[in-house]
Amino acid sequence: MPYRGRFAPSPTGPIHLGTARTALVAWLASRAAGGAFVLRVEDLDAPRVKPGALEAMLADLRWLGLDWDEGPDVGGAFAPYTQSLRRDRYDAAIETLHRRGRVFPCTCSRKEIESIASAPHATEEAMYPGTCREGPTHPERAASLRFRFDREDARAFVDGVHGPIGAGLGAGDFVVRRADGVHSYQLAVVVDDLAMEITDVVRGDDLLSSTPRQIVLIEALGGRAPRHAHVPLVLGPDGQRLAKRHGAVTVREQRDRGVTPELLIARLARSLGLVDRDDPIAARELVRAFALDRIASSPVTMSA
Ligand code: GLU
Repeated sequence: MPYRGRFAPSPTGPIHLGTARTALVAWLASRAAGGAFVLRVEDLDAPRVKPGALEAMLADLRWLGLDWDEGPDVGGAFAPYTQSLRRDRYDAAIETLHRRGRVFPCTCSRKEIESIASAPHATEEAMYPGTCREGPTHPERAASLRFRFDREDARAFVDGVHGPIGAGLGAGDFVVRRADGVHSYQLAVVVDDLAMEITDVVRGDDLLSSTPRQIVLIEALGGRAPRHAHVPLVLGPDGQRLAKRHGAVTVREQRDRGVTPELLIARLARSLGLVDRDDPIAARELVRAFALDRIASSPVTMSA
């Protein structure tokens, strides 16, 4: 299968250096493989979506010298590339899972399932103890739908950055549709990666634990799992995840300070171990020598 990579941001705010770094790796991996690069907008968690954030994100990525062959602004054979316009596909997938006996209604408390539409960054979802497997325990409540993740579903996989990952990670029945009808991050990602024929997922390290669920789900839908590579997080000088208090941590803030795209690319590339100095360099100049296995699997520290 020809390489098809993707970058799938949620338009919830400005692009951080860590996100830009992940986007750079995903883009380089696609370009180095001579593949297609898809930009998909993950906007199902409506309350977190910020007006104007998408346009700003796309502009920042372009400013950095990244481009995409398919996406919300350029179209493509698998349009639409915006998840809020793809709900009929998610419903159809749920129908299929129903027919195959892979989902069950769950009426466990709302609080427990509230964060389900967003990617579970940094925090592991608590393991679901199987409460409603034999029937909803609170039939008076609206039910979410959970995917039945059986013990034999647990599987190991090989990550392009981290190497072999054991089968214990991220198991447990997980939500595919919330009780309010919103499709979950896990479901939407899998349906779209399958429909868009994505062969290679390169994304942030905080989603590593979602991967076993996504592999099982894609197979339950009759697809084959893509290869995965998870890029380590960026930490501030104090060892905490790079955040506002560390300074100019967004691409836009760096740009406003007069940093050029080539200088920022150089700093990101250096943090990835792709170059050993901060000499300005264009993203496209990194393609030829790029290899995923040059990226360190431990978090890096950057000052903003
Ligand atoms: N939309 C997710 C995010 O904002 C990424 C999902 C993925 O790459 O699978 O980080």
